[in-house]
Amino acid sequence: MLNKFLPNQHVKSIFDIKAEELKERGIKGIITDLDNTLVAWDVKDATPEVIAWFEQMKKSDIKVTIISNNNQDRVKVFSDPLGTPYVYSARKPLRRAFNKAVKEMNLDKSEVVVIGDQLLTDVFGGNSAGFYTILVVPIVQSDAKITQFNRRIERIILNYFRSKGKISWED
Ligand SMILES: [Mg+2]
Repeated sequence: MLNKFLPNQHVKSIFDIKAEELKERGIKGIITDLDNTLVAWDVKDATPEVIAWFEQMKKSDIKVTIISNNNQDRVKVFSDPLGTPYVYSARKPLRRAFNKAVKEMNLDKSEVVVIGDQLLTDVFGGNSAGFYTILVVPIVQSDAKITQFNRRIERIILNYFRSKGKISWED
């Protein structure tokens, strides 16, 4: 059960996730979280670096879908300029949004990675739904109120994994 909180991979940021490397592994799609994964939770628009990252994926024929627990306004305003599909009010870690996203990308789960900054929603949800999961370091240390409780639980789980030698990174 606790292993469902363990990501398959851990990187500093999305910019460590390269289109070429994904392609070599047969990955054709990405499901990514928005807040504190792509930009800070209180930043409205994609940065030039994020725009370039999306372009890099597009050039390599890697489809990207944003799935976020945040509301329609937030997710639409961010995603529309990128021309990328999205699911808002996704209720991660429930599997429904993950399944919807993969279906709409017309890909197999084995061809899609899930990226996010939270163990309790992104990693647990992605693992439970049967995806390869990549945890990123949150862009900022602050969080929306609703996330602060999750972070406390997350810390306990991370400390447990660390004590068991299951993770090696520092946060
Ligand atoms: Mg997030």
